[in-house]
Amino acid sequence: MNNHQDQPLIFELTRPGRVGYSLPEMDVPELNLDDVIPADYIRTEEPELPEVSELDIMRHYTALSRRNHGVDSGFYPLGSCTMKYNPKINENVARIPGFAHIHPLQDESTVQGALGLMYDLQEHLKEITGMDEVTLQPAAGAHGEWTGLMMIRAFHESNNDTARTKVIVPDSAHGTNPASATVAGFETITVKSDENGLVDLEDLRSVVGPDTAALMLTNPNTLGLFEAHILEMAKIVHDAGGKLYYDGANLNAVLSKARPGDMGFDVVHLNLHKTFTGPHGGGGPGSGPVGVKADLIPYLPKPVLVKREDGYRFEYDRPQAIGRVKPFYGNFGINVRAYTYIRTMGPDGLKAVTEYAVLNANYMMRQLAPHFDLPFNQHCKHEFVLSGKRQKKLGVRTLDIAKRLLDFGYHPPTIYFPLNVEECIMIEPTETESKETLDEFIAAMIQIAKEAEENPEIVQEAPHSTVIKRLDETLAARKPVLRFQKQ
Ligand SMILES: *Cc1c(COP(=O)(O)O)cnc(C)c1O
Repeated sequence: MNNHQDQPLIFELTRPGRVGYSLPEMDVPELNLDDVIPADYIRTEEPELPEVSELDIMRHYTALSRRNHGVDSGFYPLGSCTMKYNPKINENVARIPGFAHIHPLQDESTVQGALGLMYDLQEHLKEITGMDEVTLQPAAGAHGEWTGLMMIRAFHESNNDTARTKVIVPDSAHGTNPASATVAGFETITVKSDENGLVDLEDLRSVVGPDTAALMLTNPNTLGLFEAHILEMAKIVHDAGGKLYYDGANLNAVLSKARPGDMGFDVVHLNLHKTFTGPHGGGGPGSGPVGVKADLIPYLPKPVLVKREDGYRFEYDRPQAIGRVKPFYGNFGINVRAYTYIRTMGPDGLKAVTEYAVLNANYMMRQLAPHFDLPFNQHCKHEFVLSGKRQKKLGVRTLDIAKRLLDFGYHPPTIYFPLNVEECIMIEPTETESKETLDEFIAAMIQIAKEAEENPEIVQEAPHSTVIKRLDETLAARKPVLRFQKQ
């Protein structure tokens, strides 16, 4: 038995010869592997696989699944990555056989309903973002960022404007922003935030110039604060010949209230697996559609989904397109879920989403402000940041607070991000939580603040109630155990 308490590893359940499958007898000639696979790639030893029954496997993974934390099992206030409830009607619609059983290589004439759904989804996203055209190809937020930046690059290049090598991002930006800029071949320039947590306009003026390809921004920013000077910022960048990129991974604060297109942005990506209730986490699949203003339409990845008199079809004849960024046309199942969400909510519902998301965040922020440091004392949007500076003086770090929350059954918020706030705790309650849930979480946070004063060890040594206690996260990331080691 290993040290994971009562849960054996699947390999420990192995009984030689026990199988969890039965295959019909082979009725075709056996293939000689040497004829189809180069010798170097053919394994010489049997793979080490568990030998268990089907029921053993079911029980094993069901037991493990009970140890997971997800939105369906508990409150998950993860700042910057909207973890809201995913309505189950989305799943029903995605499983309609006419959607679920389509083969991606079917002729367009046989999948007009699916194409129509994607087309309508694009129309809704155009309306929501204030953009002129949308592609559903990108598979995730970061992929959308890269796609958008490649279009901006193609735009400048087609104007022979090849000196534009720099992308400006605020110091509070999500890590994917500078990463995408680098992968798209740009150099990242950082612009500072001022003492109110907003982009410092003077600093922006000093970094913008003839080498500026784009400014990447999210609004509200990652501190949950609205960049009130956005129109002025857009003018500074546009006057210098640059483009504005909107990181719309989290649209919960502006949905049906304000549109990136009206703020002066030229390109926007959305995370349908955050704001639009696609299931999120565990590595995918996601969907990161990108919307553009008219002058960037020629560079959209091809094919482009169009509606013609005789129906929907994919158009490939787009000579200036940046190419294809995803096989087929994105992750269809996630797009069905987002479409279902938008249609079931309707415009008034989407407006209510924003209002409750912002109300919930402000309520929680004000309740917690007396007990933690509040670096930016102003109304927040869908999320807010606290600082654990006060607790740090007592020997309790923000990491300890996050670990202690596990004992209360909560998935901890995002911590130590954004980087420009010391001992940062970033909380996003979302609109789908009840006041009772918010109050219970607030009570837990206040109790932890009290413990930090009266009994810091209980926080420093947390978690106490989980199967595995405090992990060495660096070691776990650097030296993952990839496979059961036989003793
Ligand atoms: C989640 C997130 C991203 C990246 O989205 P992925 O789908 O994880 O690639 C980018 N920007 C912001 C602000 C985000 O919250």
